[in-house]
Amino acid sequence: MKKKRLSIVVPVYNEEDNLQHFYEAVRQTMAGLELDWEIIFVDDGSRDKSRAILARLEREDARVQPMLLARNYGHQLALTCGLDHADGDVVITMDGDMQHPPELIPALLKYWHEGYDVVQTIRDATRDASWLKRTTSGGYYKFLNLISEVPVQPGGSDFRLMDRKAVLAFRRYREHARFIRGLIGAMGFRQKQLHFTAPPRFAGSSKFSPRKMWRLAVDGVFTCSTFPLRLGLYFGMASLFASGCVFLHVLYETFVSEDTTAGWPTIMACLLFFGGMQLLILGIIGEYLGRTYEETKRRPLYLLERGKPEDLAHGLDDT
Ligand code: UDP
Ligand code: MG
Repeated sequence: MKKKRLSIVVPVYNEEDNLQHFYEAVRQTMAGLELDWEIIFVDDGSRDKSRAILARLEREDARVQPMLLARNYGHQLALTCGLDHADGDVVITMDGDMQHPPELIPALLKYWHEGYDVVQTIRDATRDASWLKRTTSGGYYKFLNLISEVPVQPGGSDFRLMDRKAVLAFRRYREHARFIRGLIGAMGFRQKQLHFTAPPRFAGSSKFSPRKMWRLAVDGVFTCSTFPLRLGLYFGMASLFASGCVFLHVLYETFVSEDTTAGWPTIMACLLFFGGMQLLILGIIGEYLGRTYEETKRRPLYLLERGKPEDLAHGLDDT
């Protein structure tokens, strides 16, 4: 029987001191498994010696497949490029800095053999993460879960296994700004979680600058939810309600208690009323804009759990 094939997708950005070590660790782990394998390194515009090292690894071992992006597109698009080109029966995406331990590959594969389509790892703790990073990350996921249409698991990382079926489905999501964790959650299929503790980086420092981290966080909020656009609607309604209360108060003072306060209540009521109206209209525009935004993402309308490969790759809604 033909052996199944595993594609390992690794985004690389200035990882010259990690690549050799990572490759050897994967080779060692894979030696004990009954699978054909390849590593697709997606170089995300590295400016150090990473590309030369990848070229050497490719010469030495045909299972190493480098792909070179034209510039630094960021981790999420580098991963997407790898997933677009990985043609194994099963694909694992992982970082090249050893924070996603290759020793866990057999554990991921075990769940795949049990029939799971996606095995999502959850970082319980990162040994070298600062207190600040841990708290902001925890708070962020709580907030995201509150506003997101689909649950996003706290601690979710981009270390995951995907069956070919899930990879084909993933390829149908063509939006530019993407938060892969949220997207995979939205896809469905049979998913399993695996908890792990991320060790410190093997070498070098994090390639996620605060700016990149912020961008990813913002993409997470705005791609998983159109709630921010609707905020105007809620504020507007609250403001209109408050203006109604003040109007009633003015009417009461004028006609019932006849103890009128000069000036401010009427101004206040008008302010709240017009402020509320404006926010309400903005919220309504936001509602339309949000819907337009959802449509422009051109996400697949549905994904099939079972079907012929061509149906899984291109749903009937695509033309
Ligand atoms: N990475 C990338 N492009 C970037 C930033 C990072 O391809 O613009 C890669 C990086 O080489 C690593 C993975 O994405 O393999 C995760 O990055 P990093 O380890 O710096 O993130 P952290 O673990 O600190 O969150
Ligand atoms: Mg890392």
